[in-house]
Amino acid sequence: ASILNYMKSKIREIKDWPKTGVTFRDVCPLFEDPRAFRGCIDLLRERYSSYQFDVVAGVEARGFVIGAALAYSLDKGFLPLRKEGKLPGPNLSKTYELEYGSSTLEVQNFSSRKGLRVIVVDDLLAKGGTLQAACLLIESCGGIVVEASVLVELSSLQGRKILQDRGWEVFSLLKYD
Ligand code: 5GP
Repeated sequence: ASILNYMKSKIREIKDWPKTGVTFRDVCPLFEDPRAFRGCIDLLRERYSSYQFDVVAGVEARGFVIGAALAYSLDKGFLPLRKEGKLPGPNLSKTYELEYGSSTLEVQNFSSRKGLRVIVVDDLLAKGGTLQAACLLIESCGGIVVEASVLVELSSLQGRKILQDRGWEVFSLLKYD
């Protein structure tokens, strides 16, 4: 528990950013702190070392930080889910709603991923639209979502329910109400 408390102490809370009424949890100071960053990756590595899966898919951009380190630590590959317009195609796209606006995620789709077992990673789960789009993308390219995993879950926004109702497992290291 003490490493989790330490990790939590590195997350900044910014009121009314990027919009009035939104409280933003800034995980960048956690990434910058070696003990907190190692704690995050080690805890996820311990969890997923007993899972059967092939690849970690990370959501741009903070999901890349966690996802790439996790993939490396478990000797797996990394699959980037990027914001619209960044990937040379052919791509699959999924547009979704955010707390503040809408956005589109893309995955490259030039070879079959049939049956590929995927852990989907992002920094934070709020209303769940982002991870839902990410999981749908994985399924549309033939993959199987083994679990959707985040560093931080904003529990009161109930994103977990949206994902679990569609049959995806959800895991978070840290929770806020
Ligand atoms: P959702 O789609 O679950 O509503 O929002 C989650 C997505 O928006 C994630 O990709 C996350 O990076 C970003 N996001 C939303 N709110 C926050 C926040 O308070 N802190 C951080 N670090 N990211 C957020």
